[in-house]
Amino acid sequence: MAAEEKPAKDTLCSHPDCSEIATHKAPKGRGKDNDYLWFCLTHVRDYNKTYNYFSGMEDGDIAKYQKDASFGHRPTWKMGVNGKDGPSQAKSHDPYAFMAHRARQKAKASEQQSPNQRGRKLLNVEKKSLETLELDGTATKDDIKKRFKELAKKHHPDVNGGDKGSEDRLREIIQAYNYLKAAGFC
Ligand SMILES: [Zn+2]
Repeated sequence: MAAEEKPAKDTLCSHPDCSEIATHKAPKGRGKDNDYLWFCLTHVRDYNKTYNYFSGMEDGDIAKYQKDASFGHRPTWKMGVNGKDGPSQAKSHDPYAFMAHRARQKAKASEQQSPNQRGRKLLNVEKKSLETLELDGTATKDDIKKRFKELAKKHHPDVNGGDKGSEDRLREIIQAYNYLKAAGFC
């Protein structure tokens, strides 16, 4: 019964945790010029930051990344615990929103501390994501953000002459970071 389709103007931000009116659009991907996501200013910046890291990659790589991100970690998210998934953004078929939404639900009750401070046992996927960023359960939000920036810079293909190994490593880093972010770690 929710008013669905989107006169561009009244669209809500695609970020799963945000109910601002979307004012900025962002392309879903290269070669999909007519496909946009809509965000508020804060989240479009967020999204673009991630999106820009894909700029040197092939569409196939991006699609594969999105697929991995959407479904790869799914078993840890305990699908279907609540029958209904809350905000209307959940119906989005955008993998980014889907991934973030799922993880957000799971992390909802968590505080903004490092997992260890919370006395919380890390899931394997969380541990692995932290390890990818060369961190562990003592990492705070700032630690994670800071490390992500460092590593993303270090492994960006642009500074490595398009080196394939760097690109793979960068993709892992982005995936790990996006997971941690979606799960409320940073
Ligand atoms: Zn927003």
